[in-house]
Amino acid sequence: MHTKTIEQLIQGLRAKEYSSVELTQHFLDRIAKHDPAINTVITLTAEQALQEAAAADKIIGSKDAPNLTGIPILHKDIFCTQGVKTSCASKMLDNFIAPYDATVVSKLRNAGTISMGKLNMDEFAMGASNETSFYGASKNPWDLECVPGGSSGGSAAAMAARLAAGSTGTDTGGSTRQPAAFCGITGLKPTYGLVSRWGMIAYASSLDQGGPMAISSECCAHLLQAMAGFDPKDSTSVQHEIPDYLADIKRPIKGLKIGLPKEFFTEKLDTNIAKVIDTAIKELEKLGAVIKEVSLPNIHLAIPTYYIIAPAECSSNLSRFDGVRYGYRCDDAKDLVDFYERTRSEGFGTEVKRRILIGTYVLSSTSFESYYRKAQKVRKLIANEYLNAFKEVDIIASPTAPEVAFKLGAKNTNPVDMYLRDIYTSSVNLAGIPAVSIPAGFVNNLPVGLQLIGNFFAESTILNAAHQYQLVTDWHQQVPTAFV
Ligand code: GLN
Repeated sequence: MHTKTIEQLIQGLRAKEYSSVELTQHFLDRIAKHDPAINTVITLTAEQALQEAAAADKIIGSKDAPNLTGIPILHKDIFCTQGVKTSCASKMLDNFIAPYDATVVSKLRNAGTISMGKLNMDEFAMGASNETSFYGASKNPWDLECVPGGSSGGSAAAMAARLAAGSTGTDTGGSTRQPAAFCGITGLKPTYGLVSRWGMIAYASSLDQGGPMAISSECCAHLLQAMAGFDPKDSTSVQHEIPDYLADIKRPIKGLKIGLPKEFFTEKLDTNIAKVIDTAIKELEKLGAVIKEVSLPNIHLAIPTYYIIAPAECSSNLSRFDGVRYGYRCDDAKDLVDFYERTRSEGFGTEVKRRILIGTYVLSSTSFESYYRKAQKVRKLIANEYLNAFKEVDIIASPTAPEVAFKLGAKNTNPVDMYLRDIYTSSVNLAGIPAVSIPAGFVNNLPVGLQLIGNFFAESTILNAAHQYQLVTDWHQQVPTAFV
């Protein structure tokens, strides 16, 4: 059952080949057996999941049953879940029980899914390897000595190990796509504003966006259908008609124009990764896509721009964690200043503190003009370059990451080296546009991701190309041997 797509599971449930209780129990058994090796689950809600599954079984097959009734999923631990610990993988929130559900969580529940628990991630979603988690790093199911990517590393590794039918992730600078690439699964970062951020613990509010992670593009379309939509509780949520993603992905892609930015395909790109991407592009060409070179002249400024804006917003967002109303609180404070200082220095991990310091610095009155305001201007420039490129093409393709999954510990002594992992992904968040990463092959037995970037609200277009590619390839169906 665990290798089936969401569509196949829906059909199986409706045909009564298995019940939702059986399906949920099957995934819970897999979590018990396999999770100790990969450390993806922070909180398991097995009992609640089985109760929800039993309730789902009563309505499966009836016409009022929502589309995803009885489908078991896991949530990144950044989404608030009522009555369930929501830690953001931080000591700061290790004792925090959320008093309400994030909109993404309630929308997926209303669509019929069963939540089995909460997934590991980088602390407050800051990282590209899952190693900043308070609960220890998740491991990559393809090689347990390698990172799963980050920050949604738990979501990606859990999918690669087939521990759920789908998972949720968030993406501020690449966090659904890069771990998806490292773990050989499909991960989508939607257009900014398409998926509500309400109840999703904020890292950098103008960049954060929740998205689905699953085996295939079709699975992601199923989840996105449930997650997307206007939310009056999120002031940046956009009122936009939600298309029928499942219907749209079935279209042939003959004539689809795919742009390859010349700045992404230079001699600096690893030759093995380049070969995999080249083969994938040829496959899309065989399906009728037309390939064209495009240019994003200032794309090399994306990383420095991102690493000014994201920490600036993080320093402001994380100021709410002061130990007063909820979360970690230090013992025996001498006075109020000591209370704040020790609560925050004991509650946050090193990377989070580094970002808060950078953010506070770039927002200070002496640096604001030279860093923060300049970064905002460059952000606009990069966004405009994407929009210009989309006058010529429908989709832009690139590798998702500059390399395959690296060894645990290999990069965490050099933060800048870690930041460079976001080279192909962070510009997409700066521009606010959508992108998907799909498995496209292997280098040294580790998965490689192909990134397909679309214009605003062109989720259908990128998921369509991804789905058509997955109909003629089987990279997304590969399961690491120890997790078959
Ligand atoms: N690696 C990036 C960072 O650390 C992206 C993280 C994310 O998308 N949440 O900021």
